[in-house]
Amino acid sequence: MNPKLLFWVPAALRMVLALLGVSIVWYLFGATYALGIAFVLMAMMVFVQLSYLFQLSNWLDNPQSAKLPDGWGAWTSIFARLYRMRRDDEKNQAELTEWLARFRQAMHLLPDGVVIMDDVLFLEWCNPAAEKHLGLTHERDKGMRVTNLIRSPEFMDYIILGRYDQPLTITFRNRKLIVQIIPFENRRQILVTHDVTETERIEMMRRDFIANASHELRTPLTVIVGFLEIASAELDLDATTRAAHLKLMTEQGHRMQHLIEDMLTLSRLESVDYPLRPEPVDIKKLMQQVLRDAKGLSAGKHEIKMECNGPDVLGSYDELYSAFGNLASNAVRYTPAGGSIALRWQDGPAGPQFIAQDTGIGISQEHISRLTERFYRVDKSRSRETQGTGLGLAIVKHVLLRHGGTLAIQSVADKGSSFIVSMPKSVVTPLQGELLVK
Ligand code: ADP
Repeated sequence: MNPKLLFWVPAALRMVLALLGVSIVWYLFGATYALGIAFVLMAMMVFVQLSYLFQLSNWLDNPQSAKLPDGWGAWTSIFARLYRMRRDDEKNQAELTEWLARFRQAMHLLPDGVVIMDDVLFLEWCNPAAEKHLGLTHERDKGMRVTNLIRSPEFMDYIILGRYDQPLTITFRNRKLIVQIIPFENRRQILVTHDVTETERIEMMRRDFIANASHELRTPLTVIVGFLEIASAELDLDATTRAAHLKLMTEQGHRMQHLIEDMLTLSRLESVDYPLRPEPVDIKKLMQQVLRDAKGLSAGKHEIKMECNGPDVLGSYDELYSAFGNLASNAVRYTPAGGSIALRWQDGPAGPQFIAQDTGIGISQEHISRLTERFYRVDKSRSRETQGTGLGLAIVKHVLLRHGGTLAIQSVADKGSSFIVSMPKSVVTPLQGELLVK
């Protein structure tokens, strides 16, 4: 029914009924009684209306704690509608609060920085990533002008030129950031920051790696091509010279082969498609193999000892062989003839340890932290003379990363070095672990 009718029809009916009642009293008892009753009825109605108005005003002042009555007459539907409105309002409020909480949580987790500013760049709000990227603190810097907080000439120029359709790359607080201002609403702007420091670092490493690898491959290739050119230009080379050239070419070929093998090993170790599948590793067999290789490389020029007292472990035999083999081969290659080398597998304070100790040329302190970088060599010519690829320690590092191990290097120039691999207790095979506890 029409809401107007719904309101007026019952009200009019009530009035008619009241008038009818008063008329009956008038007819039966006379005008005085009728007027008296009419007055009482009016007074009661006024009182009821006032009382409902009072309760309504009370409720409006304090909608949480005050209660609305069920009401009478037209008030019933008014109160019911008010109740419904309040319930809907509470529901909307709860939904809004939930959305706000979700939005805040998303903003907190966002790796990109978001700064909300007004039209004249005064900071209103920022998320933790923006605090980290720009060195801001929301509580402290709220209401400050962003240009006073981000003191970068490039950022100033960006603001002055106002070409916000293009992002800007700045270096700020040792970070490389891509920033962009996006105007939104009428009088607000968002500053978005994206940290590309790590991406840049990886990109630079990739570029360096390609440059280094190409350089390493080009050198032996130049030698081989040089000899091939001589051979094709001078067909009547004597047998001795030809044999010498072939020997040198073979050596360079082997060098390239080692390099490519090491690069492939490294890329496999880094690949996520090639996860470690731990298997029981027979350490005695592995150490014997490492010792045999080291003796072969040394060709009797060094005194090489081996001790194997530690437990068997779970891991990849091939990878551990490659890591320990690289350390043993380094010990041989960087120790002058007559020196001694000790290879040990033993129980350490926090788990088993592999130690390759030599009395070789040693490494001065400033190089030690960089040794596991690809192609980093202290002495390039010595590394090449001894068939080094410059990737051995990088391989060791990656194998240890995959096995949860660590590498410590102790070295004194001209005295010798100790490369200490510490494996976690968790890689000890369970059976051996139990036996050790006994
Ligand atoms: P390389 O193939 O050149 O030996 P590595 O990655 O195995 O490459 O080692 C990096 C560098 O660390 C070597 O070039 C060498 O200068 C230094 N180095 C490694 N092991 C030893 C060692 N036992 N004694 C002295 N220097 C070492």
